[in-house]
Amino acid sequence: MSLNVLYAGRPDMWDTYAPLLARACAEAGLDVTLSNSMPPEDVDYMIFATNGLVSDFTPYTRTKAVLSLWAGVETIVTNTTLTQPLTRMVDVGLAQGMSEWVAGHALRHHLGTDLDVVNPTHEWTPHVPPLAADRQVAILGMGALGQACAKTLRAIGFPVIGWSRTQKTVPDVECLSGSEGLDEALSRAQIVVTLLPFTAETENTLNARTLSLLPRGAFIINPGRGPLIDDEALLAALDSGQIGHATLDVFRVEPLPADHPYWQHPNVTVTPHIAADTRPRTAAQAIAQNIRRSENGEPLLHLVDRQLGY
Ligand code: NAP
Repeated sequence: MSLNVLYAGRPDMWDTYAPLLARACAEAGLDVTLSNSMPPEDVDYMIFATNGLVSDFTPYTRTKAVLSLWAGVETIVTNTTLTQPLTRMVDVGLAQGMSEWVAGHALRHHLGTDLDVVNPTHEWTPHVPPLAADRQVAILGMGALGQACAKTLRAIGFPVIGWSRTQKTVPDVECLSGSEGLDEALSRAQIVVTLLPFTAETENTLNARTLSLLPRGAFIINPGRGPLIDDEALLAALDSGQIGHATLDVFRVEPLPADHPYWQHPNVTVTPHIAADTRPRTAAQAIAQNIRRSENGEPLLHLVDRQLGY
């Protein structure tokens, strides 16, 4: 019997997703009826995004899983009407996109590229950077994206410390955990990449105390979530020179309000939440594979832990 799969992602992306989902489901051997509109009580699986149209999950009584198109689930994990299993997006497109964005911004800071790009007086001032091997990077959050970035940065030559809630073993990466591990990672890192989810525990991970642990002039790269950083503390650290530059992709309020000090600060680069967009083709394949697993009686991949919040 055909499965009813509701697309409840961004409405204007339906035309893009429809053929990709249809193909991915067919390739996974699934017989599905796909639609962006169907009676809630008929839905077997829901493909969800926060910027879609569903916010009350109560009427979806037979829905076996809600499959998020986003990796970050902080806006849905606290929804009390959501009692169905929730999965988050882990796929090669997100990992590749995030790795490219993080590597690009890490290299920009490492090489001092801005000195050459913005050189209005055409001064000949050689500025030879250290080799990557001499520039310590710390990645806070060693999940799907943190580990993908660690691999890319290691391939370039950066030594990488990875910090996570539970202790990890990752080839060529010094893995730390716990609050002492965080302090240790920060006390050595010249470039910090924040790839934690936003939860009650991770809010303001970078604050006045932790920012002060970093070597003077360190660079911050935040593609995780805005609330991971105490904005006031970061601005103060930028003003004092404790932090050399912050490249920020995510913010407490998005779009970043026009009067926010980050826009004006000479040592802040704002990017508009584009570090790793969900790529429809690979995301459709990940969704189809998870539905196939569920229908075969296998555990869903990337289930969100409601207690942990990610
Ligand atoms: P993930 O696989 O769930 O990894 C999260 C990592 O954070 C894990 O290593 C986890 O530790 C660690 N962590 C969670 N709570 C912690 C705590 N209290 N202390 C220390 N470490 C903690 O997530 P992901 O797929 O890598 O994605 C990470 C985040 O990136 C998402 O939540 C989202 O906010 C953000 N994101 C941004 C964009 C963008 O375009 N800017 C795109 C996609 C995702 P354990 O491994 O021990 O569980």
